[in-house]
Amino acid sequence: MSLSPYNVPARTIMTPGPVEVDPRVLRAMSSSILGQFDPSFTSLMNDTMDLLREVLQTKNHWAYPIDGTSRAGIEAVLCSVIEEGDRVLIPSFGRFGYLLMEICERCGADVHFLSCEWGEVFDPEEIIKEMKRVRPKIVAMVHGDTSTGRMQPLKDVGYACRENDCLLIVDAVATVAGTEVKTDEWNIDGLITGTQKCLSVPSGMAPITYNERIEEIILERKAVERGIATEEQLLSRNVDRRIRSNYFDLSQLQDYWSPARLNHHTEATSMLYGLYEGLRLIIEEGLEERYKRHRLHERALISGIHAMGLSLFGNSSVKMPMVTCVSIPEGIDGDSVRGMLLQEFGIEIASSFGPLQGKIWRIGTMGYSCQKRNVLLTLASLEAVLLRHGVKLKTGDGVQAAMDTYQSVEQR
Ligand SMILES: *Cc1c(COP(=O)(O)O)cnc(C)c1O
Repeated sequence: MSLSPYNVPARTIMTPGPVEVDPRVLRAMSSSILGQFDPSFTSLMNDTMDLLREVLQTKNHWAYPIDGTSRAGIEAVLCSVIEEGDRVLIPSFGRFGYLLMEICERCGADVHFLSCEWGEVFDPEEIIKEMKRVRPKIVAMVHGDTSTGRMQPLKDVGYACRENDCLLIVDAVATVAGTEVKTDEWNIDGLITGTQKCLSVPSGMAPITYNERIEEIILERKAVERGIATEEQLLSRNVDRRIRSNYFDLSQLQDYWSPARLNHHTEATSMLYGLYEGLRLIIEEGLEERYKRHRLHERALISGIHAMGLSLFGNSSVKMPMVTCVSIPEGIDGDSVRGMLLQEFGIEIASSFGPLQGKIWRIGTMGYSCQKRNVLLTLASLEAVLLRHGVKLKTGDGVQAAMDTYQSVEQR
């Protein structure tokens, strides 16, 4: 048994999550605890909802965090909407499409899975054609899949879903606050994000938003818990259609996030301090400015990677700005390179999953990690480590190219 204090080593985190966190967020999280019904805390809840609507680009009333990591938010929305036998179409272009499938199957959905090659996304027409053929209640899909670094255009899909009276539920965990995500304009009915990606808050909450189309279903399935329900609520409980999960029951959670302040689980107060501060910093920076910052550091990183003589994986026209997938040079052990980067330079980059395991490295430029210092350090260190691994590189060119990119912007 160790009784020595844990000393966190210095790290530069360049993965697609979790990412570095602004010290102001960490400071907010160390504030003292409030009761979950304290008026000061409930007013913080309301303020957080306002900020979330802004960041998620929506006029939806419901915009609040689920306690748990991003997949908790995904599970909460899907299990609150899906009933046994409901048809769900899942167009998938990476690992997180499979996660949607896993969750929908467990909710008892009749899942129709459509997949495309990893590194590509769908032509929206293909999804729309399949939606018209399958006639699902829900189309569930990922906006930006971090496993392949690709981003699916959603606008046409959203329009077609609305026209065909089908719900569109989107995992925008990795893209919100790093690039444009227009919930209302794209006709997204339910949207889930996470804290540890571009929101740059520690992992542990999953902000969601949904509109009246989803709320209507949730309310039909509402069954307030025994022990807190009134006589009248007990009599009107629709137990047959009741949402299967207690913890993720949005019909009860939304009551806690309303003036009713219905008691459900104990809110994660310190996490909410962090989320509020993180959202506040996003609005203070400005959404457009923030998207521009993610594009700039992506550009610098890519120019450095190319100048070094390395190549990128995937269709570049649908690349996520906050994830850059680098092909591992022939004959090189990708994990050994990552290990040395961490050991010698304290820099963490990611590997990938499934068919891409051992084939690509994924470098994240998200939130607070998305800054010049991190990009230049990563390029310089990657070069040094690759030279140690015997890779022939254009020595020195990577960092210079990235510096050129920054200079060309700074001089304008
Ligand atoms: C990271 C990620 C998730 C999973 O998030 P957890 O917070 O680990 O539950 C889901 N979807 C996408 C697209 C992601 O990038």
